[in-house]
This record gives sequence, structure tokens and C-alpha cells, in this order.
Amino acid sequence: MCLSDNPKDKRLRVSVLVEWDDYTYVIDCGPDFRQQMLNSKCTKIDGIIFTHEHADHTAGLDDIRPFFFRQGNIPIYAHERVIKSLERRFDYIFETQNKYPGAPGVSEFVIENRTFKLGNLKVVPIDGMHHKLQVFGFRFKDFAYLTDMNKIDDKEIKKLEGVKVLVVNALRKEPHPSHFNLAQALAFIVKVNPERAYLTHISALLGFHDEVQQQLPENVFLAYDNLQITL
Ligand SMILES: [Zn+2]
Ligand SMILES: [Zn+2]
Repeated sequence: MCLSDNPKDKRLRVSVLVEWDDYTYVIDCGPDFRQQMLNSKCTKIDGIIFTHEHADHTAGLDDIRPFFFRQGNIPIYAHERVIKSLERRFDYIFETQNKYPGAPGVSEFVIENRTFKLGNLKVVPIDGMHHKLQVFGFRFKDFAYLTDMNKIDDKEIKKLEGVKVLVVNALRKEPHPSHFNLAQALAFIVKVNPERAYLTHISALLGFHDEVQQQLPENVFLAYDNLQITL
């Protein structure tokens, strides 16, 4: 039950739409993907980039249908392990023979821990751990998006040098085995030292938006649904 009337306290599962020039990419495709695409009036996507395979980041893959009908196979970018997981769970999407008419399709691109190109931009993967599961975050020029992490090696943090806007997960105040809690996320932000940071993957246990926001350092903000950041 949601105890707040503030729209900023009503949170869909995490995802971000990254746009530059004529390009539009989505990071993760959770169960709220359809609603998020409708809310953002997004009519074209050049691809979906996955951080990891957990259902709250992948379960909306079937809802790429309207994009697939207009555009054809939708490019997906993920760690090889994540692609294998999607192939098992969405076998009909990956089917190459006797594919069911109307089933959507994807083109797969494996991400390794080195820079890759999306459109005309170089994207830098940031390798982190989500308890014992490897997760990718991504840096697009001066913007970096990291979610579902609770451990990142210093050599990966170095890749974040000079980012202006950092998005990072902060689940709640209490410690958690696989997510940064608020104190850990704030310590990580101090280490990276971006101009501004936004907290995401927020659980209801973190507290009400307005109350938590007041306690944060002046360059740290709680993200909320439909937040737009321009760089
Ligand atoms: Zn996860
Ligand atoms: Zn998650």
C-alpha cells in the first residue's frame, strides 16, 4: 500500500531512456516497460541495453512488439550470460525457425567489459557486483548510469572520472546484501565526485521523497518517475 499522495513516491521499476542526436536507447526493460514507453511518448527505440538479467530489469521484453512491428528486429545489448538467460525465458522471441507469426524479434549484441559503439557514440561499460552477480553500468559521455550494484572495483570507478551526472542505486537506509544502501551510495558518490548525482532503485523503505531529499547533500537528488535530465 502506498502511503503518500506525492507522485514522486509512486515508483515504477527502474529504467532510463537515453537520447542524443536522433538516437534513442533504453537501459533495461522491466515489467513496467510498456507503461514507461507510453508515459514518455517514445515511438522509436534504437536498442535496449541490459544491466543484468533480473526480472525487474528484463520482464517487459515481450512488450517491444509495437516497436518491432514498425522497425523490425530490435537490437539488444547485454553480457553473454544475460543474453543466454533471455533466450531461455523468451525462447519464442529468439526462435529462428517456424517462428510464431506476430512474435517480436531481436538482434543480439554481446557486451564485454570494453568500450562499444551505439550509433555515433562510444559507450563505456562499468563492471560491478550485485552480491555475487556481475552487473554492467554504462557511461555515455558525461552521464553514467549504475544500478543494482553494491561493489565496484577502483579500476572501474576510474572510468567514471569527470562524469557530470551520475545515477546510482540506493535501495533503503538499512544494509542490504546486493544493493548499496543510502550511506554506501553517498560514500560512492563522494568517491566519484560528479557535479550532480541521482539515486535510483529506491524501495518504499527509504522513506518519503520530500523527507529524504531534505537530508541529502546539495548535489544529490532522489530520482523519480519521468524525471528528465539534460546535459
Ligand atoms: Zn538485480
Ligand atoms: Zn533491480
